[in-house]
Amino acid sequence: MYKLKNYMEILVDQMYDEATQDMDICKCPRCVLDVKAIALNTLKPRYIVADENYLYVKISMMQQQYKADIISAITKGTMIVSEEPRHD
Ligand SMILES: [Zn+2]
Repeated sequence: MYKLKNYMEILVDQMYDEATQDMDICKCPRCVLDVKAIALNTLKPRYIVADENYLYVKISMMQQQYKADIISAITKGTMIVSEEPRHD
C-alpha cells in the first residue's frame, strides 16, 4: 500500500533522542513536541510516495544526507523552547 509521507518528520522523530541526549532540557511531552515543531518548520519538507519497504530504505539513505541539518534544526528548537517553555 502506498502512502504519502514527509520523511523529514520521521527523521526528526527518529533523531530527537540522539540529538538531545547531552542537552540539559525539559523532557516533558509539551516541550518535546514544541522542539520538533520548530525543527520541522526550519527544515524543508520532503514528501515521498512509498510503500513500507521502500520508505524504510529511503529513510536510512536520507538520514545520512540530512543528519547535520536535522541535528542543527533540533538544537535551534531546544534553545528557543528552553528560553520560553510553554508547559504548565
Ligand atoms: Zn517542559
